[in-house]
Amino acid sequence: MLRLFNTLSRTIEDFKPQNDKEVTFYACGPTVYDFAHIGNLRTFILGDILKRVLVFNGYNVKHVINITDVGHLTGDQDLGEDKIEKSARLESKSAWDIAEFYTKAFKADLEKLNIVPPTIWAKATDHISEQIELIKQLETKGFIYKISDGLYFDTAKFPDYGKLARLNLEGQEEGARVEANNEKKNPTDFAVWKFSPVDKQRQMEWDSPWGKGFPGWHLECSAMSMKYLGETVDIHAGGIDLIPVHHTNEIAQSESASGKKFVNYWVHGDFVLINENRMSKSEGNFITLTTLEEKGYDPLVYRFYSLSAHYRSKLNFSFDSLDNARQSWRKLKEKFLDLGEQNGIVDEDSLKKFQDYINDDLSMPQAMAVVWDVFKSSLADSDKRSTLLKFDEVLGLGLNNISAQSVAPEEVKKLVQDREVARIAKKWTEADQIRKKVLDLGWIIEDETFGPHLKKID
Ligand code: AMP
Ligand code: ZN
Repeated sequence: MLRLFNTLSRTIEDFKPQNDKEVTFYACGPTVYDFAHIGNLRTFILGDILKRVLVFNGYNVKHVINITDVGHLTGDQDLGEDKIEKSARLESKSAWDIAEFYTKAFKADLEKLNIVPPTIWAKATDHISEQIELIKQLETKGFIYKISDGLYFDTAKFPDYGKLARLNLEGQEEGARVEANNEKKNPTDFAVWKFSPVDKQRQMEWDSPWGKGFPGWHLECSAMSMKYLGETVDIHAGGIDLIPVHHTNEIAQSESASGKKFVNYWVHGDFVLINENRMSKSEGNFITLTTLEEKGYDPLVYRFYSLSAHYRSKLNFSFDSLDNARQSWRKLKEKFLDLGEQNGIVDEDSLKKFQDYINDDLSMPQAMAVVWDVFKSSLADSDKRSTLLKFDEVLGLGLNNISAQSVAPEEVKKLVQDREVARIAKKWTEADQIRKKVLDLGWIIEDETFGPHLKKID
């Protein structure tokens, strides 16, 4: 039996989907105005592990990830500039090009991390009519009021507002004064539709019964989740920062429109920190997967690294700890290769231990310990191999793709080629520098008569 920590109850609960064969799962996706950082990516690795665990338990999973390409403003309180339009201005591109470019970059990151794509990718700008329909429903039921810059949801009409975040609404009122929209009835009210500014032409805007404009950020997730997964979804996931505003507002809109519970299990992943601070785009302290690759790390090292902490704990990122993870990952790959290529049978005892851990609110560090126990056990190599390949359905480390040849990462192979070019041109210093670089990455180049040969450092 799978058990998950539900943010709504703040307890670990038995997981019971509405339909015992298929689980519906919505994961809040990225705002595509910049590259995702490895903090964001940790949250998507969590979604992937959760999905794989569900599949491991025999469920089909209908999984939606949204792409926020409009409506996410730079300021809280529905003020500020649209992040996509701002990026377009700074990069001198169209808002549509910005969204497309960073969506592609995001999907490429997921692929490198062995993250299984969702059943449905849902883009906010492809669902404007669904969002307008949802506002109409809310308007008919009396939850919406209009002020000069848009239509707002009246949170005072939804008595359960704040149930997810256990908000202290009085405290919020004071905090909200810092950046207040004076026309709002309550500080927690939020925009469902914002009007285009009169003095400036927006690149992304649509006609609506209330005037030209664009949807508020939270609306898309309610509209798309209900469209693809029904009024009540089994699981909705994201990072913990989404609890007090984004997810709280999603609940308010969705439950007011449908009269039903919006989400049965809320799963939230904690932050990646860097030097004790949350990694975030606005803090400018972020690292992308591409940066890690440029520094010579295989993206899967990051996936492996993220499995070393429970998803509800903070992950203190440092290059030292990433290097340690890389060492263990290399060791794991080597040990796996040493098992040979013969498959045997999955060891039931190890499988049970592994499954108990993953089903205990995704206890991945403990599940990884079972992996090392399998290596150490007295099982036959072929049985070890099959057992680990079974585990890898959840771990997603691509063990079945590891072969003696492919162990050298692309980057190392490329460096070896570069060194050959340098040697042919008799640029000895450069060739030597490249050899050192390869050495730093954990490989020795041995010059054989047939050409260079790569050997791993023990
Ligand atoms: P965004 O693109 O900013 O909308 O964020 C995409 C996802 O990443 C959301 O689920 C966020 O909650 C999550 N997220 C943002 N910052 C971090 C962080 N430092 N560590 C882990 N997850 C994060
Ligand atoms: Zn969302």
